[in-house]
Amino acid sequence: MQTSYDLHTHSTASDGTLAPAALVRAAVESGVTVLALTDHDTLEGLVEAGEEARALGISLIPGVEISVSWNNRTIHMLGLSVDLEATDLQLGLAGLREFRDSRAVKIGERLEKYGISGAYEGALALSNGRLVSRTHFARYLVQQGHVADVRKVFKKFLVPGKPGHVKGEWADLQSAIGWVKQAGGIAVIAHPARYGMTRTVLRRLLADFKEAGGEGLEVVSGSHSYDEALTMGRYANEFKLMASSGSDFHSPENAWSRLGHLPELPMGCRPVWDFWQQH
Ligand code: AMP
Ligand code: MN
Ligand code: MN
Ligand code: MN
Repeated sequence: MQTSYDLHTHSTASDGTLAPAALVRAAVESGVTVLALTDHDTLEGLVEAGEEARALGISLIPGVEISVSWNNRTIHMLGLSVDLEATDLQLGLAGLREFRDSRAVKIGERLEKYGISGAYEGALALSNGRLVSRTHFARYLVQQGHVADVRKVFKKFLVPGKPGHVKGEWADLQSAIGWVKQAGGIAVIAHPARYGMTRTVLRRLLADFKEAGGEGLEVVSGSHSYDEALTMGRYANEFKLMASSGSDFHSPENAWSRLGHLPELPMGCRPVWDFWQQH
């Protein structure tokens, strides 16, 4: 059987809509043979996903998508093939979830001032007692009929300059890379074309990342156009970073991030999966 990788996905452990086991089943149905579950700032879903993957005979790479503050911006960094028991990673992620809890209260207060009541309680209920994300606020506002769809909620309320925005205070890049490496994993910059960075700023990020021990770049992403993948493939080669590929799947309703169905890595890229084949 042909190998088909999807190394960036979410479950209900963060802001996805499928439970970890259901995500694994959906991946099998989409023909994925190597799946990484990479929930935001938590390892919570990985045991359940691992059990289902073993039962169904697909390979599950334990992963995480870490929120990072770098030069006053939020960026996302994947840790792939991490040890679930690694203490630094566990403690680091717990700190980020604490920030999420206090941020959620503030987002609720800001929306309240804007005339939208009950958003904090609503988002918390949708997060089901697990990690709370801006996506839960967005879903709640859509459910309540305030805005037509999740994307519009972000645009209107949840991004910098808008009434419900709270500045991220996430991990610094060096710490996040350290946690992943101490956990035996590989650090990968997620969806690099999504940050709206100029070439100069992106180069600075990649240089900092490389210097701090980062090893991978998500060249192919469900949120990249093919041209963006080609551009990121060139950056990966320039900075001697391994190339990763993932859909950023959150839910079956979201057409831009279907499971699997990713284009091949651009020519000349060195795939991240070579990394764990050698270990
Ligand atoms: P958080 O980590 O809680 O700040 O939320 C970030 C998450 O919100 C991302 O991982 C995406 O899933 C989602 N998100 C961010 N921007 C948008 C957008 N413009 N439209 C829809 N979802 C978004
Ligand atoms: Mn998300
Ligand atoms: Mn992301
Ligand atoms: Mn993601």
